Amino acid sequence: MRVTTAFNRLLVLPGASVTDVSFSPEGVIVTVRLRRRCRVCGECGQLAGHVHGRRLKRWRHLDLGAARCLVECELRRVWCPDCGVRLEAVPWARPGARHTRDFEALVAWLAHQMAKTSIARLLRIGWDTVGNIIERVVVDRVDHARLDGLLAIGVDEISYRRGQRYLTTVVDHQAQRIVWCSPGRNAQTLQQFFDLLGDRKHSIQAVSIDMSGGYQQAIQTAIPDAEICFDPFHVIRLAQRATDQVRRDEWNLHDRSRTKAGKWIKGTRWSLLKSPEKQTIDQLAKLGEVQQANKPLYRAFLLKEELRLLYHLDDPALAAEHLDAWLTWASRSRFEPFVKLARTIRRHRAGILNAIRLGLDNGRLEGLNNRIRLISHRSYGFHSPSPLIALIYLCCSAI
Ligand SMILES: [Zn+2]
Repeated sequence: MRVTTAFNRLLVLPGASVTDVSFSPEGVIVTVRLRRRCRVCGECGQLAGHVHGRRLKRWRHLDLGAARCLVECELRRVWCPDCGVRLEAVPWARPGARHTRDFEALVAWLAHQMAKTSIARLLRIGWDTVGNIIERVVVDRVDHARLDGLLAIGVDEISYRRGQRYLTTVVDHQAQRIVWCSPGRNAQTLQQFFDLLGDRKHSIQAVSIDMSGGYQQAIQTAIPDAEICFDPFHVIRLAQRATDQVRRDEWNLHDRSRTKAGKWIKGTRWSLLKSPEKQTIDQLAKLGEVQQANKPLYRAFLLKEELRLLYHLDDPALAAEHLDAWLTWASRSRFEPFVKLARTIRRHRAGILNAIRLGLDNGRLEGLNNRIRLISHRSYGFHSPSPLIALIYLCCSAI
């Protein structure tokens, strides 16, 4: 078998024939010829006219054993009526790329599994190159139909770096995937999403958000008919915070950890915060002690659990009644944190009940958000958010 035939079979580059193979300090250099005769613009893909000279171009391909593999091809510079003079298109690489599609696909696949630094080291490429490749793959492969016919979306914010840097993410509740992601976390950020949707935004019937953000205004302006739902996960988290505040107040009242009682209160934290079915035997025992020894703390625990029950009613039609009873109890509880929480919840009552009626729960999205947090943690040190956004699309969208 001739060497060129062997390499043709080995590399399987679409549309290319191997003409020569040589070894150099940089690795194995495989010279190929484009099989296609017609001239195609590398930028827009339409047929191009005159040839304006030639240029030798190289792409890094998948390694051959321990050696790097470089594909080399002489390309024509062609005149395109729309783009001007451009290098002609090749089937094995994206326009402007210095790596073949196979190589880029490998990087994208690895990006699902491991940190960027590990990829850079394993494949012996620059750190920024990993980011650039991921961005290119995403632009090429992102599903444009993902924005069509959205019915229910969830909007959330995540911090991606220390120093108050946030991304706004939009999730499609039905497909359970991220459909949009952008830096910032205010009404203007979300407005960009509605601008991008254009008329398609009118298909949206419900939006789930948390109670704190500034998204509400943007939603009401852009899609006034959509129902706003306040996410159960965030409501329960606020109740947990209120419980914790009550515990801390009690702790301060008992001279903090300087007394035995104070120390004991400090140790009750998880028994009070976690729901009983998730507690360990020890935590449950502690909860029993609380019930015996400290009535106020136990009452705070019950207040939180009663609010949590709102989302586990046998008959969701009773939710309004349950919520109103809770509001009355909480506002008369004489716990400052719960009185405040009751006020907040009363203001958002309709949206909280909407979430129950429509069954929208960002809890599942919280899983996605955790994944994003993991991704952003693995990629600390991106200079700009755009490679991170590309990575999020890659791992949490439908690519
Ligand atoms: Zn063109």
